[in-house]
Amino acid sequence: MILIKNGKVVNSNSIENHDVLLDKSTIIKVGPNLVSGNKNCKIIDAVGCYVLPGGIDPHVHMNLSTPLGYSSDNFKSGSNAALYGGTTSIIDFVTPKRGENLDYALSSRIDEAKVSETNYSFHISLVEWHNNLEKQIKKCIKQGYSSFKVYMAYKDSIGLSDSELRKVMNIVGKLGGLLLIHCELGDKIDVLRNSLVDEGKIEPCYHPISRPAETESEAVRKAIDIASTEKCPIYIVHVSTKESVDHIRIAQSKGQPVFAETCPQYLILDDTKYKGEFDETSKYVMSPPLRKQEDSEALWNAISDGTIGTIGTDHCPFTKSQKEICRNDFRSIPNGVGGVEHRLALVYTYGVLTRKISINKFVEVTSTNASKLFGLFPAKGVIKPKSDADLVVWDPDAENIITASKHHQNCDFNVFEGVKTTGCPKIVIKNGKIVVENC
Ligand SMILES: [Zn+2]
Repeated sequence: MILIKNGKVVNSNSIENHDVLLDKSTIIKVGPNLVSGNKNCKIIDAVGCYVLPGGIDPHVHMNLSTPLGYSSDNFKSGSNAALYGGTTSIIDFVTPKRGENLDYALSSRIDEAKVSETNYSFHISLVEWHNNLEKQIKKCIKQGYSSFKVYMAYKDSIGLSDSELRKVMNIVGKLGGLLLIHCELGDKIDVLRNSLVDEGKIEPCYHPISRPAETESEAVRKAIDIASTEKCPIYIVHVSTKESVDHIRIAQSKGQPVFAETCPQYLILDDTKYKGEFDETSKYVMSPPLRKQEDSEALWNAISDGTIGTIGTDHCPFTKSQKEICRNDFRSIPNGVGGVEHRLALVYTYGVLTRKISINKFVEVTSTNASKLFGLFPAKGVIKPKSDADLVVWDPDAENIITASKHHQNCDFNVFEGVKTTGCPKIVIKNGKIVVENC
């Protein structure tokens, strides 16, 4: 039993000076002046701290298999880093090989994730169209997995053509699922990147030039159009541009079920990171690439007005040596950056403390909305009786500087190196147990 005293309990719609009593893995009471009545109860004094629902990161890739090996965080190391940052649940992906049954891919991925120190769930990627797909999707939904993911880029491996996308949307919509979409125009990008390399332009600075903003926003527009005719609710992952936000806002204003996510890297960093030498610039090779400062501003506004409802990290780090192998061709540099450990501190520092968003909005976009969208609510994403005892005692004043020498992510660099943060988890509780203390 744990009793958290004297904290400010923050939910997406309230902030109250309440105590929180936990028994085993459940919150049993929330209110003023609670006493436990159990002499073995551990008392946590949260005076001066916020008490937040455990963070939910709806977009991570642990142990992601690529032609250049696995991403450097596996489920054990990546989830451990997540806990240190106040994230107690992660949602990763099942990505079947073409020709592989979804059910088989799901059970193998569940096996890999068993070492995870956070709670975890999955979205299921649909990497091809075939006549058995409907049956397989039905089976996944029956097992409790109702969010699916498709890619409009990477067509030679996991991406779908427009006609496949339409058929998938039709089925997922009909079966009551939610479709996550990586929106980038793969064909156009392939032409651009190949012609750059043909001209000898092989450095990472050409990566963003090969994936300009309109290759994302045009894909967003197209996905919204198809989803509208096929009546499929969609969730656009890692939105990075102003124009994408405009398309999403218009669709939402017409009542279309379009949800959107962005990531800390698109809020905090910008494309000036691609200026310089390979060893530095290759670190920032991710898709979509970093954009301009005005895009970051548009993303913050979209979070503030609710157009963007969730912040995930797209956590997928690779080491310096994994990036280095591709010194002669930016096209083969493994795409991805790590951030699962820093999401809450970054959004708090650069969102709440700059008054772009409220503390309630902070909870909403880092926990509550993901819980609601992905079937975890009301067990997670809220502090109230009967909900799961996943909580963070948040010290709002603790100052830190992000650095690879201190982080828990398994990567020999950090894309947020040197970034100052204020606020961090003092205590993290997962399933009623203290898992991080005084970090
Ligand atoms: Zn991703």
